[in-house]
Amino acid sequence: MAKKYVYFFGNGVAEGGAEMKDILGGKGANLAEMVKIGISVPPGFTISAEICDYYYKHSKTYPPELKAEVEENMRRLEKATGKKFGDAKNPLLVSVRSGAAVSMPGMMDTILNLGLNDETVLGLAKLTSNERFAYDSYRRFIQMFGDVALGIDHNKFEKEIEAVKAKRGIKLDTEMNVSELKELVERYKNLYKKEGKEFPQDPNKQLWIAIDAVFGSWMNKRAIEYRRINKIPEGSMLGTAVSVVSMVFGNMGDDSGTGVAFTRDPSTGEKRRYGEFLRNAQGEDVVAGIRTPEDLEGLKKVSKEAYDELYRIFDILEKHYKDMQDVEFTVEHGKLYMLQTRSAKRTARAAVKVAVDMVKEKLIDKKTAIMRVTPDQVDQLLHPMFDTNEKKKAIAEKRMITTGLAASPGAATGKVVFDADKAATLGKKEPVILVRPETSAEDVAGMAGAEGILTARGGRTSHAAVVARGMGKCAVVGAESINVDDEHKLFTVNGVTVKEGDWLSIDGTTGEVFLGQIKTIKPEGLEGDLATLLKWADQVRRLGVRTNANTPTDARVAREFGAEGIGLCRTERMFFANDRIPAVRQMIFSNTREQREKALDKIMPMQKEDFKAIFREMNGKPVTIRLIDPPLHEFLPQDEETLKQLAKDMGLSYEEILDRAAALKEFNPMLGHRGCRLEITYPEIPTMQVKAIIQAAIELIKEEKINVIPEIMVPLVGHVNELKFLKEIITKTADELIKQSGVKLTYLVGTMVEIPRAAVTADQIGKEAQFFSFGTNDLTQTTFGYSRDDSGKFLNDYLEKGIIPVDPFKTLDKDGVGELVRIGTKKGKKVNPHLEVGICGEHGGDPDSIKIVDEIGIDYVSCSPYRVPIARLAAAQSTIELKEKRSKKNKK
Ligand code: PEP
Ligand code: MG
Repeated sequence: MAKKYVYFFGNGVAEGGAEMKDILGGKGANLAEMVKIGISVPPGFTISAEICDYYYKHSKTYPPELKAEVEENMRRLEKATGKKFGDAKNPLLVSVRSGAAVSMPGMMDTILNLGLNDETVLGLAKLTSNERFAYDSYRRFIQMFGDVALGIDHNKFEKEIEAVKAKRGIKLDTEMNVSELKELVERYKNLYKKEGKEFPQDPNKQLWIAIDAVFGSWMNKRAIEYRRINKIPEGSMLGTAVSVVSMVFGNMGDDSGTGVAFTRDPSTGEKRRYGEFLRNAQGEDVVAGIRTPEDLEGLKKVSKEAYDELYRIFDILEKHYKDMQDVEFTVEHGKLYMLQTRSAKRTARAAVKVAVDMVKEKLIDKKTAIMRVTPDQVDQLLHPMFDTNEKKKAIAEKRMITTGLAASPGAATGKVVFDADKAATLGKKEPVILVRPETSAEDVAGMAGAEGILTARGGRTSHAAVVARGMGKCAVVGAESINVDDEHKLFTVNGVTVKEGDWLSIDGTTGEVFLGQIKTIKPEGLEGDLATLLKWADQVRRLGVRTNANTPTDARVAREFGAEGIGLCRTERMFFANDRIPAVRQMIFSNTREQREKALDKIMPMQKEDFKAIFREMNGKPVTIRLIDPPLHEFLPQDEETLKQLAKDMGLSYEEILDRAAALKEFNPMLGHRGCRLEITYPEIPTMQVKAIIQAAIELIKEEKINVIPEIMVPLVGHVNELKFLKEIITKTADELIKQSGVKLTYLVGTMVEIPRAAVTADQIGKEAQFFSFGTNDLTQTTFGYSRDDSGKFLNDYLEKGIIPVDPFKTLDKDGVGELVRIGTKKGKKVNPHLEVGICGEHGGDPDSIKIVDEIGIDYVSCSPYRVPIARLAAAQSTIELKEKRSKKNKK
């Protein structure tokens, strides 16, 4: 049998259905489906998207058999409608519509009223006893055909309309009378001539030109851009299908009209019908926004029967599709026709409410509900967002001055401040945005005081990005086009100067930076329906979800968001508090072990109290504490005054202090003396930290009966001997303290895996460790050789040139870094079946990365507190998808 390319629908016959979206497009498939379930749609046929694929693969030609198939279906359509294509007395008119498997609203072409010409227009006038209607339809068709199919600038048609209206001094298109419409038709035809184009009188010619145009629109700029923005890879769809549908007219008088509607409210998700209706109008009038539509109640006045029927259809559609629908309809002389149905686009809030409500209404099961909400939507509900209209206004007013990397989601408006200390104090009184070339540990208090952070340098795992995400604060980083002039307290960007105190608005979800204020909308928080949905997600997911938290406040936030433990506590972050940094600096500048131990003795009780507070917050849940990680120079003061004071405190000369600071400088500190290397050189530092951890646990068990199982983690191990060396110090220190205390306390010793060598030799390291935590920030840095802090300079260029598909600091690089995670997990678990494996790099909160590590089979992800809810949902979705994938594979 010859291959079928055209599928008919109408009058009770449907050759396709909803499951054929790939070849019929969403529109064609759903029109057929509606016919199947007895809903009234105007008859028509759909040309398969396979033809679109063929068209582009064969120099824009069609398979030879297509013509006959289209003709045959045209005859069927004539039979179904009782009209004839091109007939002067009883003409069949059609619309030619686009529609791909994934809806791309408004991106591709549609032509209405096709089949009209100088003769059929007379027939239409006679048949409807409405000459005005017939000529209005005709001029609309000539205009649309010229614009869409032949590329004549639509402004030129508008100019002709204006000329006709000006003659009689009328304003609205609807005020044009028959003779004016006839004049317009003539003017349009002349316009075609002037443009060197011909308006085809032959309906068959019209049809094929229109079909060409719709297939051609698959590759127009708008459609390509839409696919790019929405991450729809080229080649993932065959193309667009073309549906040829018999016309029904909403502009036949006061008993006709057209509208669009949602089966629930798309902005809140409430179960109330929502829509717009225009009496005596065609669909394009609604879209064009020339007249203000009424709400759906307007339809009741036009036809109570059509209104009741529409509401009945809403119920049928929701029950059938088991999702909220977005429909287009037309009422012709009181009879209702559905022109389209599709699953409705909705806000994050509506997505969650509709999913949860539909489970309660027994329309869908919990798993379907979980799959209906995207992790991004959860993110939106947890952070402030710009008011959509205000943001649109700001864009229209050209207030967007630059973009950077969208490093931490949310939106913020505030006055520009260049100094972190100032941000910390001023931020208590009014909203501020902290603008820095980049941030460092010294800026943390200022970051906490600011509404948002903007930096000129740095990538997605730079200090500013990681810390902002941890705080749930919006940040745009690596906005390379801005030049920060700290001295004059201003920055310049693309010819604009922004001074301290000027208002600035930044969007950490998109990376946009705006001048002036933009109203923000408060987040919903984790309550109600979202909490319910996430509870369902918890019942489904295999992966554990922990958090990266360094303070008791972080820990509390994360626990409220559902974290099941702490996967990474970066202990050095505590060193920067004002009451301890002097002692830390004394330790760094100490010459002898004794001096260093003296300084460490001052820090130890403070660290112990920190750990106690964190353990208390986590109330028995596991807490992984990492020993000191960054190179020591990060703790040094930068300004002369503090350095001089430090010299005085330590009884050293200023020159001596400068010399020692210089000695600590490294060319490549990220690969230098840090992590376990530092701990091996100065074992007294980890010893102090272990004492603080174990003592904190002992006291809590004794005093507050809180069960604590500390997990002590060694960073940056690349060779098993590094871990062996430190493990001995850790266990010796810990066991002694435990023995002295007389309490029963178990603790674990494990390592980060963030150096490729550690992953590759995981069968050696796994024998010495009780747990692994993949530090995929450093592992990405060390595997690719891209600096975490400096790669912002070229990563965008790399992405644009297609060198790499995604930013590997955002989404785990499956083939390289992911492969190391797989090897490390497999080798580690093989030698040590009890080995617990997690991931604590920023990827732990990224939905795509979560899928990768879930498939590898690690035990948990750990991410910043504000990403915990996202990780819970993403992990559940991953479990569901993996199950489906595996069961499909088994069936094969
Ligand atoms: C990592 O490297 O992935 C990690 C979690 O550690 P940090 O970001 O502190 O280097
Ligand atoms: Mg690291």
